[in-house]
Amino acid sequence: MRTVRLPDGTEVPCLGQGTWYMGERRSDRTAEARALRLGVDLGMRLIDTAEMYADGGAEEVVREAIAGRRAEVFLVSKAYPQNASAARAKLACERSLKRLGTDYLDLYLLHWRGSVPFAETVAAFEALIREGKIRRWGVSNLDPGDMAELARANGGGCAVNQVLYNPQYRGIEFDLLPQSKIPIMAYSPVGQGGELLKHRSIAAIAARHDASSAQIALAWALRHPQVIAIPKAAREAHLRENMAAAAIILTAQDLAEIDAAFPPPRCATALAML
Ligand code: NAP
Repeated sequence: MRTVRLPDGTEVPCLGQGTWYMGERRSDRTAEARALRLGVDLGMRLIDTAEMYADGGAEEVVREAIAGRRAEVFLVSKAYPQNASAARAKLACERSLKRLGTDYLDLYLLHWRGSVPFAETVAAFEALIREGKIRRWGVSNLDPGDMAELARANGGGCAVNQVLYNPQYRGIEFDLLPQSKIPIMAYSPVGQGGELLKHRSIAAIAARHDASSAQIALAWALRHPQVIAIPKAAREAHLRENMAAAAIILTAQDLAEIDAAFPPPRCATALAML
């Protein structure tokens, strides 16, 4: 698996695993944990979760998945904006750690921008690093203007920005992606398994590669060396497909066909988020 280098030199796999909608139903949790474990076995050892997902339930699924193998996994979680404050960040982080059954996160993200000033969030996250509760911090759903403001608020330690990125939502190619000096973590890279995977152009490219549409969407996101994609997959067949997508190289013709179906941005657009 190709790796992407974080600003501190740590290498993480270019393909990880999402967990949104895991942990919603207690009866599905064991199977979801098994899926995450298989993903780690296959090499997708970066796991992305959040306190928001299933109200902490997704973190509990991750706990079951990584029990006994914490060191193998690069663990990412996210704080609600209202919890990314001086008064609440430590408590929110400790709750996540407890649900995850670990004493540290590899990466802690601000889930999206709220009303807490960036400087306060940065100071709170840096304190968590000093306390050993997180190894590094980053952000999510921040546009180029937000990133510039973050940089002015002592945000030089930001390790990644996690944003929506797939052929249907490629506005970041105009500004955020080319300007970014830090890796971009692409969420919903297979379009949440919806319309994107039914699109004729994607399906035609997939047929040429003897691959699935999801694999083409992932290969497309991963064509950027600084992009990390985090598809969520609970089904074994999906996990195996996703892993194999890391080896697919799209041709100039493939990329041109995707551009024709999903035109690249010609001007700055508001950052899309789910
Ligand atoms: P996604 O990964 O694009 O899509 C997940 C859906 O696609 C699931 O229904 C999954 O089915 C299906 N799928 C996965 N692999 C497939 C394949 N090879 N073929 C066909 N279908 C496939 O969407 P997402 O869950 O929204 O995004 C990924 C992760 O990004 C999230 O889980 C979360 O960790 C993170 N995220 C972050 C934010 C944020 O604001 N920071 C927002 C959204 C998401 P099965 O589960 O049935 O296998």
